[in-house]
Amino acid sequence: MVTISAERKDRIAALDYGYAAQPKQALTSCNLCGAAEFAILTHRDRYGYPVQAHACRRCGLVFLNPRMTAEAYGRFYNGIYRPLVSAFHGRLIDARTIQDEQREYAIERAGFVRPFMSSAGRTTLLDIGGSTGVVAAHFAREFGLKGTLIDPAPLEVEEAKRLGLETVTGLVEEYDFGARRFDVVIICQTVDHLLDVAGTLTRVRQLLSDRGLLFIDIVDFRAAYLRNWSVEDAIKIDHPYYLTEQTMVAYLRRSAFEVLRSDYAADHLHVSYMCRPGAADAGAMPGAASVDELLREVRFVQNAPRP
Ligand SMILES: [Zn+2]
Repeated sequence: MVTISAERKDRIAALDYGYAAQPKQALTSCNLCGAAEFAILTHRDRYGYPVQAHACRRCGLVFLNPRMTAEAYGRFYNGIYRPLVSAFHGRLIDARTIQDEQREYAIERAGFVRPFMSSAGRTTLLDIGGSTGVVAAHFAREFGLKGTLIDPAPLEVEEAKRLGLETVTGLVEEYDFGARRFDVVIICQTVDHLLDVAGTLTRVRQLLSDRGLLFIDIVDFRAAYLRNWSVEDAIKIDHPYYLTEQTMVAYLRRSAFEVLRSDYAADHLHVSYMCRPGAADAGAMPGAASVDELLREVRFVQNAPRP
């Protein structure tokens, strides 16, 4: 069920964002397993935009399809994204106001990462989708690293520059770091925003030094629909991907990462992973039973009364 109040609807309409007219691409194969058989789960997102979320019938990966092109997403992050989220929540959320929340997040996640940072010799940090740089700056300070940040939103990168970080305005899928390697890569509240998760993780694996560590976290799709008892309310155009523990771990194993520790965040929504380079497991895949369970649970939430 889509539950959009009249005020929220008016605020979103006032943005006059023509989502339907944006250039889009149809995805014909699953980004995780390559299969081509999908189930359509939803036809609207939480804002009321006409967008479908599909689930791969083989591995259970959930993603928007069709979804906006990279260029359309570039425009989206350069001016629409924060105002849209502000309109949704009914309060101002911008490159300034999000920093308090990011500071809290940085302190909490640094605690999760700290036990793995003890061995010396790590000097560089790359934050992919690092927003205003609050998290990267905190990690850099806390662990004595030189911080670099890449993000597609110019206003947020402006903020990051002020924190003394090296910054790149752009998408990691498109930017060429050449021969550079990083000792720590963090992908915070970002993987769901990527256009190509498999490609990015493969790229990140190449960007990691031998002693490298990857921190990554997901919005757990199941937690997102269970907490509001609405699958549609868990879907939003800002997130091309909807990961679960099963699909994220499969992604990491396929991309040659070994998961050292996972953590259910205090908000009960995010799940974090600490990883190091491992051997690629090209066949890593959620079991058929977990895919069946996901589809059954989605149908249950869509049709059974809220408990
Ligand atoms: Zn798949």
